[in-house]
Amino acid sequence: MVRMEEIFGINVFNDSVMRQRLPKETYKALHKTIDDGRRLDPEVASVVANAMKDWALEHGATHYTHWFQPLNSVTAEKHDAFISPLPGGAVIQEFSGKELVRGEADASSLPSGGLRSTFEARGYTAWDPTSYAFIKDHILCIPTAYCSYGGEALDKKTPLLRSMEALSKQAVRILHLFGRMDATRVTPTVGPEQEYFLVDKDLFDRRSDLIFSGRTLYGSRAPKGQELGDHFFGTIQTRVQAFMADLNEELWKLGVLAKTEHNETAPAQHEMAPIYAIANVACDHNQITMEMMKKVALRHNLVCLLAEKPFEGVNGSGKHNNWSMFTNTGYNLLEPGDSPHESAQFLLFLTSVIKAVDDYQDLLRASVASAGNDHRLGGCEAPPAIISIFLGDELTEILDALEAGADYSGREKTELTVGVHALPKFPRDTTDRNRTSPFAFTGNKFEFRSLGSSASIADSNVVLNTIVAESLRQFADELEKADDFRSALHELIVRTIREHKRIIFNGNNYSKDWVDEAARRGLLSLPSTVEALPCYTAEKNVRLFETHKVLSASELRSRREIGLDSYAKMIKIEAETMLMMGRRQILPAVMKYAGSLASSLNSLKEAGASVMNGPSLLSGLCEGIDQLKDNMDALAEILNNKPEPESPDLSARYMHDQVLPAMVSLRYCADQLERITDRSCWPFPTYDELLFSVQ
Ligand code: ADP
Ligand code: MG
Repeated sequence: MVRMEEIFGINVFNDSVMRQRLPKETYKALHKTIDDGRRLDPEVASVVANAMKDWALEHGATHYTHWFQPLNSVTAEKHDAFISPLPGGAVIQEFSGKELVRGEADASSLPSGGLRSTFEARGYTAWDPTSYAFIKDHILCIPTAYCSYGGEALDKKTPLLRSMEALSKQAVRILHLFGRMDATRVTPTVGPEQEYFLVDKDLFDRRSDLIFSGRTLYGSRAPKGQELGDHFFGTIQTRVQAFMADLNEELWKLGVLAKTEHNETAPAQHEMAPIYAIANVACDHNQITMEMMKKVALRHNLVCLLAEKPFEGVNGSGKHNNWSMFTNTGYNLLEPGDSPHESAQFLLFLTSVIKAVDDYQDLLRASVASAGNDHRLGGCEAPPAIISIFLGDELTEILDALEAGADYSGREKTELTVGVHALPKFPRDTTDRNRTSPFAFTGNKFEFRSLGSSASIADSNVVLNTIVAESLRQFADELEKADDFRSALHELIVRTIREHKRIIFNGNNYSKDWVDEAARRGLLSLPSTVEALPCYTAEKNVRLFETHKVLSASELRSRREIGLDSYAKMIKIEAETMLMMGRRQILPAVMKYAGSLASSLNSLKEAGASVMNGPSLLSGLCEGIDQLKDNMDALAEILNNKPEPESPDLSARYMHDQVLPAMVSLRYCADQLERITDRSCWPFPTYDELLFSVQ
């Protein structure tokens, strides 16, 4: 058994290591950079680099890398050895301040969405000193942002850092209006709960669909799925427990605060939640977590599936992005306070989020759009493609009372006035009962539940930080001009509730009625990625991101294009995989079985016995084979007829409108055949094996 205190952070160049190893002045200067977002002096960088190198070498590192997060949702690294030649053929191990602070990345194969042409492929990586460097597989990883020479963001971290700045700037303006002059910085905090599936590696290796797309493209449902509810929070299987213990250890060594682990709703589905951290660190840690989940699973002869919907008929996997804002003085701005003053401040920050979510539903939806997540959203297992907010009855009642200028029923006969009265107490644990909501207030934070399990959490947090910054900017503009702060504040909060309460919905988000009701309220429904992603470049959204200097119009265009392009590519890969499996595995297998059935029937006949239903059994199979062939031909033809040349928009639209439905028909046909074909003939592992074999 490992002792957590002994291993936690041993592979991280964290604050206590820095304090130990850096000269006092350097440590202080670095801290200034970290705390205030200042530029780092080159001399300081040299000292830090040297200390970092010595520490890394002592911990077995041989190389370093500028670790970054390109636009395709994974992480990228290029390793350089700490090596420098000496005259006479010897070498020394060196690492300069320059090498720490800035790197060159020839990353012509990474997606840039037209921001950078391949002949000028070089971009540069810049150290993010607010996220600690760490050692992974003998490599010192330095978290960095990745930009083109023109300064355009080619990664997910750059806009995340910019959005954190934007949020801080506007939130501090508001805090100063409340007289909190000691607040100089506000930081978004994020705790992402990560869901995943584990399957046996021997079974995985026999399924091309899992290998190429991470999800099953064929497969008839097992007799048992999740209906008994016996997996959620159930006793953890021995092999899974061993995996989790190993995973925790790896994550703790890397300074990830892995905390909660449990079985999830679907068979073979599990979850891990860390303790929250500041948004960019949480994002780095979530990338590390996903990478480690995959690596550690292999050690246990398991494969970790992060696809959003690996299996039909049981729940898919997502991420719950818990989000709040903290001041540098340690206050959670979404924590309802006790005094009237604190309540007023809480209500202002709360309504700033309500307004932001209503004004920018489209961006929140776009931030979670991907081919994989489309299979999950709206499937009555995950939030719908309609964005709304769950506040809980108590808080909703308080907002209603404020809006109506009425008594709040829980209080004595006084009218609830912002800044004069404290909020009535509402018990925290009643605020999290609605699991169907995409965006729920859970006592002292919001939980955005629509994220896909394989996605980077950067996109959603960029949107969240920026849209809330925009609400706060408008609020601050108005309140800074007010003669009487308290009455202006009351008026602003009441008006915001009135204008944006349509976004609040405490009911069942999975019901058909909600779809109709949401339409009546004028809320957006963007069922698929092809509708959602283009919202990034809507005029109002370009204005938003430019106002807060988070993303420029061309950066937004690149994100939209890369998203649509990967959507189209993903579906093409899936369709080709289906054809390969259909033609080379399913069709031959069913033909063989039909043949053996025919000979069995003949032998029986020769022996003087006969099966009355024999011919219909056989003709049922043959019909299925014909249909399978027709469906495969149809899919192949649709793929071949894809118009060229295309824009990412048209291409994605074609895949969505033409290819996906043909895939659905083909699958239906193959799954029917699976049900009537001899199990021993079926060419790859079935759902019951995949979902129930890990013990
Ligand atoms: P629940 O299980 O009710 O959703 P938890 O307290 O278990 O709530 O939190 C789930 C996740 O939310 C964890 O990752 C936790 O660290 C994170 N979290 C808690 N408080 C905050 C906060 N103020 N800001 C961001 N994340 C938070
Ligand atoms: Mg939760």
